[in-house]
Amino acid sequence: MTLDILMIEDNAQNRYLAAFLLEQRGHRVRAAADGASGVEMAGTQVPDIILLDIQLPGMDGYAVARALRQIGALRHTPIVAVTSYAMPGDREKCFAAGCDGYVEKPISPETFVDEVEAFHRAATSGEPE
Ligand code: MN
Repeated sequence: MTLDILMIEDNAQNRYLAAFLLEQRGHRVRAAADGASGVEMAGTQVPDIILLDIQLPGMDGYAVARALRQIGALRHTPIVAVTSYAMPGDREKCFAAGCDGYVEKPISPETFVDEVEAFHRAATSGEPE
C-alpha cells in the first residue's frame, strides 16, 4: 500500500534520509521544513500519515500537533512524533498534544519504514480504505 506521507522536519539531512527510505519502499513523501507550512500543507492535501519532528524553529512539534488536530479533516490522521527528545515525560507530552506514536532519533534505516507502516495500520485499522 502506497502511503502519502507528510514529513515536518527542519533538518535537511534528516528529511533526505527519511524520504529516501520511504520512497524506496514506494511511498510518496512531501516535506515541510517548519510547522506553519506543514500545517498548511496537511490542510490543503490530507496525507495518510504525518511524521512530525518536535524540535522545530518557531512553532514546536507539540504546537504543530495541536494545530493539526484542530483541522477537521485531520482529526483521525495518524501523527507520529520523530524526535531525539529523551527526557522523562516527553513521550506523554507527544501523546497529550495529539500524536499517535513516537519514533526516536536517530532513526534506524533497517526498521524505520516498518515502524511508520505499523503506526499507519494501527491507527487506521477498522476504517474503510
Ligand atoms: Mn528539528
